Amino acid sequence: MTIMKVCKGGCGKKPAVWIDSGIHAREWITPAVNTWMLNELVENEDDHPDLLDKLDWYFLPLYNPDGYFRSRESDRLWRKTTSSYQGLKCQGTDANRNFGFHFGEASSSDNSCSEIYRGPSPFSEVENRNVANFLTSHKRQIKFFMSLHASSQMIMIPYGFSKNHVLGDYSFLMELAARANKALFNVHGKTYLVGDIARTIYPASGNSIDWAKEELGIPYTFTMELRDDWNSGRKGMMIAPSEIIPNAEEVWAFHKEVARQVIKEFGNETMTRECNVGAPYRQECGYPGITRKLCEDKGCCYNDKTPNTYWCFK
Ligand SMILES: [Zn+2]
Repeated sequence: MTIMKVCKGGCGKKPAVWIDSGIHAREWITPAVNTWMLNELVENEDDHPDLLDKLDWYFLPLYNPDGYFRSRESDRLWRKTTSSYQGLKCQGTDANRNFGFHFGEASSSDNSCSEIYRGPSPFSEVENRNVANFLTSHKRQIKFFMSLHASSQMIMIPYGFSKNHVLGDYSFLMELAARANKALFNVHGKTYLVGDIARTIYPASGNSIDWAKEELGIPYTFTMELRDDWNSGRKGMMIAPSEIIPNAEEVWAFHKEVARQVIKEFGNETMTRECNVGAPYRQECGYPGITRKLCEDKGCCYNDKTPNTYWCFK
């Protein structure tokens, strides 16, 4: 597995963006769009100097390389990893049901032959362990987490594990998603549905963005379903290669909008600064959160000495 990092002046001192793709092997358009965005970020810097001056970027173009190889070579609609476990009838785990937050709840299967088989235990898949280790070691730095899927043109926020739980900062994330979706729409006029995972597409427990939001405390966590159109599209994930670039152009517009929100909110933070003054205002900082807005003009940071507690400071 290869993570591509893009950092001006060295990595680790600025807020960061994470974008992964290909967690589901058959969703071929996602690595294509992700690498297009990586190229655009680097090669067209004049268009967006702030994005490299103010942020670090981490791209994981191919989350599930073994599954992708199988999809390319022999089984076009293969979705899962390719792991085998003794005593189980079928091969492969749905890596997006394998995370350790509400593992094994709604819409994940304990049948190894299912397309949504969750694996024998949380983080049983080496792909998930690798990603979790990297993200955990960068959790203070990463402010924007995106995981790309296809297809059906949707933009989603946590939660996926249940229809009955609403995110603490649901309204704020929805507002941001809607604003970035407008930027996306303005590129090619494509419509994407915005909402939380469980109520927009279907419940999915053990998914990566619920885990990134709740276990790591990454403020802006999204997943997207790329083209084809959920309503009128006919090709689904078999979409034509000619769609890759227009799809990437509109999806990049979404990412730029969210990235600029990160710059606005966290751009002046030095990631290594200790934040040990003042009293903890856990709720005012938005985690598990009432509203992040209350903290916008104060600034927030994560304090490792008190896990899951944010401290506000002026
Ligand atoms: Zn998917």
